[in-house]
Amino acid sequence: MNDPLHIALAGNPNSGKTTLFNHLTGARQHVGNYPGVTVDKKEGTLTHNNHQLSVVDLPGTYSLTAYSVEELVARDYLVNEQPDVVVDIVDASNLERNLYLSCQFLELGVPLVIALNMVDVAQKRGISINTESLSKLLGVPVIPIVARTGQGVDELLETVFAVSRESEHPPTLLRYGPDIDQALRDIVPPIEQNQLLTDTYPARWTGLKILENDEQILDKAMEENSTLTRQLVDRSETLTHHLQSTIDAYPEAVIADHRYGFIKSILRQGVITRTFESDRLYASDKIDKIVTNRVIGPLIMAAILFGLYSITFNYSTFLVDWLGLFFEFLSSTADTMLPDGPLKSMIISGVIDGVGGVLGFVPIIMFMFFGIAVLEDSGYLARVAFMMDRIFHFFGLHGSSVMPFIISGGIAGGCAVPGVMATRTLRSPKERIATLLTVPFMNCGAKLPVLTLLIGAFFSAHQARYMFLATVAAWIVALLAAKFLRMTVLRGESTPFVMELPPYRFPTMRGLLIHTWERTWQYIKKAGTVILGISILLWALMTYPGLPADKVAEFDAMRQQVSANQSADNAAELLKINSLEAEAGLRNSIAGRIGIGLESVSRYAGFDWRTNIALVGGFAAKEVIVSTLGTAYSLGEVDPENTTSLTDRLAKDAHWNPVVALSVLAFIMFYAPCFVTVVAIAHEAGSWKWAFFSMGFNTLFALIMSVAIYQIGTLLGLG
Ligand code: GDP
Ligand code: MG
Repeated sequence: MNDPLHIALAGNPNSGKTTLFNHLTGARQHVGNYPGVTVDKKEGTLTHNNHQLSVVDLPGTYSLTAYSVEELVARDYLVNEQPDVVVDIVDASNLERNLYLSCQFLELGVPLVIALNMVDVAQKRGISINTESLSKLLGVPVIPIVARTGQGVDELLETVFAVSRESEHPPTLLRYGPDIDQALRDIVPPIEQNQLLTDTYPARWTGLKILENDEQILDKAMEENSTLTRQLVDRSETLTHHLQSTIDAYPEAVIADHRYGFIKSILRQGVITRTFESDRLYASDKIDKIVTNRVIGPLIMAAILFGLYSITFNYSTFLVDWLGLFFEFLSSTADTMLPDGPLKSMIISGVIDGVGGVLGFVPIIMFMFFGIAVLEDSGYLARVAFMMDRIFHFFGLHGSSVMPFIISGGIAGGCAVPGVMATRTLRSPKERIATLLTVPFMNCGAKLPVLTLLIGAFFSAHQARYMFLATVAAWIVALLAAKFLRMTVLRGESTPFVMELPPYRFPTMRGLLIHTWERTWQYIKKAGTVILGISILLWALMTYPGLPADKVAEFDAMRQQVSANQSADNAAELLKINSLEAEAGLRNSIAGRIGIGLESVSRYAGFDWRTNIALVGGFAAKEVIVSTLGTAYSLGEVDPENTTSLTDRLAKDAHWNPVVALSVLAFIMFYAPCFVTVVAIAHEAGSWKWAFFSMGFNTLFALIMSVAIYQIGTLLGLG
């Protein structure tokens, strides 16, 4: 321990810093100025239990931005002088506002003790504060004191010594909403790599200050590395512009909202009890009283989600049908325009059926994304996370796991890759790994088309209901899997929960449209690039090596035989032969052999070899499942004059029935995450061990589910 131990008193104006300072140091104080600025600097010393302490009374501030001299002085003192412990004086009678500054100390990662002052005043106003849970939720000691009388000060000093002996004070990571979080993910790595100001500030903090347009930090950064700083400022300007056009707010305001949201969520967890209602409720709080109510809240949530599915499926189907017709038209045009041969086969079966299968779902995806944008922009999504926390804790996860789940598709149409990355806000490694292993169970945007296809083909009467059930099933399975992991390979303590609850806003139509379009465009772009590539590759695997010459000759002979005898259903006969030939070709192809090989296992779950091909392709990207099924079932097309949609083809196929569909659905929902997610898991978990684990664990689990569904369903005669 340092002798003397340096402590700094910080806090809002009028929180009682000077009173505490005087109580601690008595008359032994110097008054000077902070170097370079004419702001009073009071320093004093005291001895406690034979330890020397030197105390500095920092200027009172509400924030640590660079808006005033006081704020700059306080912040510079903390980073340059690095006091051994910062004592944050918090006015208990005005907790929410005072904690705003505490929150920023936490983000900066300074060794912190909170002195909860004026508890006498709070008590008189009927406010009682549970310091234990406040301390647990904030992750720092909270000691109630009355600076005026010295009550609690001894305990405060003991705690100061205890904290000074701790070696680590990691900064608390807050979330500031998807746009700012994304900007941070973009700019923090280059700050770390180039060690921009990392001697003085944590990289994420510097990043945040750049987004807040903090002049002091920008000047310092400019001095140290102007090229890099300009790039970071560019990114920051993009963000500002984006926030301006979507929610009409500056990054600073959004960041502040989320800090207050963080505090609000802490205070709402039984930290404050009012013996009499004197505080007026703000609009957001009034809404929250109902919307996050223990009983009504979950019901409202279920109703909203179900409404989202109903609207999506009721209003998007005509567009889906229309797009389907468009792709059929393209197919038949290509069929008549192009000469027979591999090129035609590639364009129809690989490109149009493959990409068309994926693009055909754009209207549904767009409706879904629009609904989610409404929930997100209005601030409701954060409440969903807040409510889900109670459940999450029970399953060994953390409240901060909720966002990764929602991002991965917890409501519908997310992506597990950013979901896995979003687990970075979890501080406990075990909770974090449990979260990133289970988020791929959510119904991501790529699984949606497959779910829609199968539900549309076999349960079309109750589309919205089945989609809703699929979502609920995904959550149940993910939570049970998490519980299982936390009871076995990831056993350990759980940590308390804090989550940002920013105020409600009225979403603007412009903002909603931009958010919807951004995500939809991502989806379309993926269909046009990655999916197109994989589609063509799969087409090749499904086409080559083709039938051996003697087999082709056999089919030719059969055709000649039919043509020779002049009967009425010649045409039908010929088509049947063509179809048999196509199927024989597919069976003989590389993909076909793989699919047939897998049948030895998959038949217990009711999957035929064509489905197996699609499922293997789905490992590259789940979107490919639909397109591959499309290709597999169009190669064996019986009647090209009368093309039917894949939905109809599956519904009529002898091999498919509702039980098979359910079994395939379960498998697709739960088997190995797509390749990109697996790489992200390896990266985030810091080892390939967990990536391989997730592939093996999920696939085995999915197989068991599917076999159970198929066997029981068949036994009950539902097939
Ligand atoms: P500073 O601006 O943070 O330095 O706050 P001061 O130390 O000047 O205190 C502001 C006012 O609060 C003064 O009138 C103090 O007497 C009063 N005060 C400080 N601590 C307490 C306390 O624990 N209880 C009560 N009732 N008053 C306090
Ligand atoms: Mg003072």
